[in-house]
Amino acid sequence: MSHQIPEKQWAQVIEKTGGPVDYKQIPVQKPGPDEVLVNIKYSGVCHTDLHAVNGDWPLERKLPLVGGHEGAGVIVAKGELVQDVEIGDHAGIKWLNGSCLACDFCQTGDEPLCGKATLSGYAVDGTFQQYAIAKAAHVARIPKDVPLDAIAPILCAGITVYKGLKESNARPGQTVAIVGAGGGLGSIACQYAKAMGLQVIGIDTGDEKAAMVKKLGAESFIDFAKSSNVVKDVQAATEDGLGPHAVLLVAVNEKPFQQATEYLRPRGTLIAIGLPAGAYLRAPVFETVAGMKTIKGSYVGNRKDTSEAIDFYRRGLINAPFKVVGMSELNKVYEMMHEGKIAGRYVVDTSK
Ligand code: NAD
Ligand code: ZN
Ligand code: ZN
Repeated sequence: MSHQIPEKQWAQVIEKTGGPVDYKQIPVQKPGPDEVLVNIKYSGVCHTDLHAVNGDWPLERKLPLVGGHEGAGVIVAKGELVQDVEIGDHAGIKWLNGSCLACDFCQTGDEPLCGKATLSGYAVDGTFQQYAIAKAAHVARIPKDVPLDAIAPILCAGITVYKGLKESNARPGQTVAIVGAGGGLGSIACQYAKAMGLQVIGIDTGDEKAAMVKKLGAESFIDFAKSSNVVKDVQAATEDGLGPHAVLLVAVNEKPFQQATEYLRPRGTLIAIGLPAGAYLRAPVFETVAGMKTIKGSYVGNRKDTSEAIDFYRRGLINAPFKVVGMSELNKVYEMMHEGKIAGRYVVDTSK
């Protein structure tokens, strides 16, 4: 039962903005009274981790920093105040490492908006290490019959797109365009959307991503690099030509954010999720007003979204492709991600 916790462990550390990350041994930390120590087995690689390496956002981060916020593993130690999770339980460390649990937002289930929220792999060390810490109240509870490698991408990508789809208010039978459908969030979004009864138009580029997105259940795929008019093509892909009821923007470039406001259906909702550096959302006022269009952002999910998103996986509704490599290979994953070459998600195995 008792797990021997070593004093040192392997980690990937960001020493300076722009990288590369440094694979080295660092000390294992001890959890505080309301925290748990998780022996991370697998961690998904989110584009947010690359934004953190590059310092893309107007939000201060820790340096040196251990990135990563899709970490799945086993609880090996806990603080004296922790009562509702046990050593040996499977748990996930997600983007929201902790929040105050007392402010207006925390009280109403909007804890990602908490002013005192701590962010894994950004403001505090994350999951690209073998032992990571999080507030017990915030770790994802992972059922033991769920594989830890496959559940890792659900801990950010899954929660985020599931929440975004709920925020869109799209109803079963309606159409959602997923912009960036071939990436980590996008591929998983195709499956949540399908499971929620929505029709999917996938937008991304390349034959590999096209084939994957169709396999994941999208009705149609538009290659933004080959299309001469993305706006027209997206509208034409809907039955009545009026455009999708919802757009989930998970792309990492600014341009599709502008395009989406044009092809969104009247009364439709645009959900911005991707966070390209320095980007702006721009929409024509006339068409937005006269079309009664909604444009909004969606930011990860709360604890209930987390358990629901995991339950979709447990029930067999989600099986988007992922590839496992050793954590020592993280720089290579970032290179492929920077070039837009990853179809689906990469997951690192912290033991290699
Ligand atoms: P990813 O690199 O796996 O996927 C991005 C995809 O966007 C790629 O497949 C790429 O080809 C595609 N793309 C690029 N330009 C496009 C265009 N013009 N049209 C359509 N597709 C285009 O990245 P990811 O891990 O899925 O993350 C996506 C974004 O979401 C990142 O900016 C990340 O920081 C952000 N994110 C936000 C939240 C949130 O809570 N809002 C949570 C997680 C990630
Ligand atoms: Zn993420
Ligand atoms: Zn709070």
